[in-house]
Amino acid sequence: MTAETSAARHEPDATSGPAAVDAAVAEARAAQPWWDGLGFAGRKKALDAWRVLILRRAEELIDLIRAETGKTADDARLEVILVADHLRWAAAHAGRVLGRRRVPSGLLMFNQSATVEHRALGVVGVIGPWNYPAFIPVGPVSAALAAGNTVVFKPSELTPAVGRWLADTLAEVVRGPAVLRVVTGDGDTGAALCRAAVDKVSFTGSSATGRRVMAACAENLTPVVIEGGGKDAMIVAADADLDAAADAALWAAVSNAGQTCVGLERVYVVAEVAERFLRLVTARAAALRTGDRPDADLGPIVLPRQIEVIKSHVRDAVARGARVVLGGEESFTPPYVAPIVLTDVPEDSVALTEETFGPVLVVNTVATVDEAVDRANASAYGLGASVYTGDRSQGRRIAGRLRAGMVSVNAVIAFAGIPALPFGGVGDSGFGRVHGPDGLREFSRTQAVTSQRFRPLVQPNSFARGPGTMRTLVRMVRALHGR
Ligand code: NDP
Repeated sequence: MTAETSAARHEPDATSGPAAVDAAVAEARAAQPWWDGLGFAGRKKALDAWRVLILRRAEELIDLIRAETGKTADDARLEVILVADHLRWAAAHAGRVLGRRRVPSGLLMFNQSATVEHRALGVVGVIGPWNYPAFIPVGPVSAALAAGNTVVFKPSELTPAVGRWLADTLAEVVRGPAVLRVVTGDGDTGAALCRAAVDKVSFTGSSATGRRVMAACAENLTPVVIEGGGKDAMIVAADADLDAAADAALWAAVSNAGQTCVGLERVYVVAEVAERFLRLVTARAAALRTGDRPDADLGPIVLPRQIEVIKSHVRDAVARGARVVLGGEESFTPPYVAPIVLTDVPEDSVALTEETFGPVLVVNTVATVDEAVDRANASAYGLGASVYTGDRSQGRRIAGRLRAGMVSVNAVIAFAGIPALPFGGVGDSGFGRVHGPDGLREFSRTQAVTSQRFRPLVQPNSFARGPGTMRTLVRMVRALHGR
C-alpha cells in the first residue's frame, strides 16, 4: 500500500525492518512469562484499567482515528465504544473460557481425573487494517492478552498513531515490561512479522493480502487467523418491515463511506415489495450529506486508488445493463463518493462478485426467498449477512441456509456489537475467529491433563498385566456397552 491517502495527515512513520521486528518479538517473548504469571485475575485488573483509561481519554483516540482515516466523529465514537465493550468482555471471560475444566473420565478410566486447559501460545503477531484502526485490532489483541500472550502489533501504514496510542496507554497501566509492542511500516513490515518467531499471526485485511500472509506464515508453519474481505448480502422477504429494512440497509451500505468489511453490498428483495423497498432506500440515500463538512454523514474514501475500483464496478454494471437509481458519475468528487444505488445488476458483474468497499448498494429483485438464498450464497466471500422478515422463525431458518460466518435477523451488523459472539467468515473471507469464547481459544493451545487418583483395578497399559487382566477388561466393556 502506498503512503498516499486522502485523509492521513501524519508524517511518514519510521519503518520497522526485519531486525526491528525480530527485536520487538524477542522483547515480547521475554515479557510473556511475567504477564502469563499474573494469572487471569491479574491480567483482568490490568486490562480493566486500560479500558477505563481509554474511555477517560476517548476524545484523544477519536481525534487520532479521525486524523488518520477522515471518518466522521460519530463513526469514530462508535468505534471507541466497541473497543471498550470488547475489551471488557475478553478480560471478564478469559478465566471461565480458558481456565482448567474437569471432564468426565469414563468408567474405564475412572481412576483418572481428567482436565482441559487452554494455555497461552507465547507471542502473537497482529496485523490490522486502516478502516477500523482501533476496534478491529483490539479484538485479537484483547483476546491474546487476556489469554496470557504478549503481542506485537503492526497497524496499517495509514494508522500508526492509533496503534501507538493503544500500546502507550496500555503501558501506562501495566506495571512491568511492555506486553503490547507496535512495529510500523508497510506490507514489508507485516511480512517480516509473519516470518518472525511469533507463535500465531492474526491478520485482518483484504483477502489478496491474506493469501500473501498465509504463504509467509507457511514457511515456519506459523498458524494464522485470516479475517478477509466480504460481499455481504441482505435478504428482504415480502413480510418484512420495509422501513426498518431500508433504513438498516442504507446504514450498513454507506456508513464509514462503505469502507467496512461487514458493510452491505448486495440486497436481494422479493418482487412483491421490491419497488417500494427501492423507493425507501433511495429517498433516504438522497438525503445524506457527503464531503468535508461538519455535518457530513459520509467522509472520504481513504485510498485514492479505491475510488477507481468503485468507479470501475459502477461503470461495468451500467455497461452490462444495470439501472442507476441514485447517483452515478456525478457522485465522484474525490476524495468523496456520494451514495450510489444500482438495480438489475447482472450477477456476474464485478459489482456483485468483488468487494467494492465504497458507498454503492446493489438492490436486485428475486422471485422468492429461495432464489435470494441461492444468489446470496453464490459468492466467493462469506463474511456477514442479514435477513429482514416479519417472521423471526423464518428468519432463523433462512440464516441457517446462508453461507456466512455471521447473520443478523431484522438488524444489520448486530453480531459485531456483541462481544460474546465469534467474528469471522468462510471462503475468501478467511477462517478462524476473533471475539467471544472462540476468539479467546484462538490464541491459546489446548492441553489435556490426566492425574491418577488411585491405582486401577485392571491395568492393561503394563507389561505386568496378568492373564486375567484382558478377560476382566472385556467383561467390563461388555457390561458398559450392554452386551
Ligand atoms: P490490506 O490487505 O491492504 O492491509 C491489511 C494489513 O496488512 C495492513 O496492515 C497492511 O500494511 C498489511 N500488509 C500488506 N501487505 C502485507 C504483506 N505482504 N504481509 C503482511 N502484511 C501485509 O487491507 P486494508 O488495510 O486496505 O483494509 C481493507 C480490507 O480489510 C478490506 O478488504 C476489508 O474488507 C478488510 N477487512 C476485513 C475485516 C474482517 O474482520 N474480516 C475487518 C476490516 C477490514 P499496510 O497498510 O501498511 O500496507
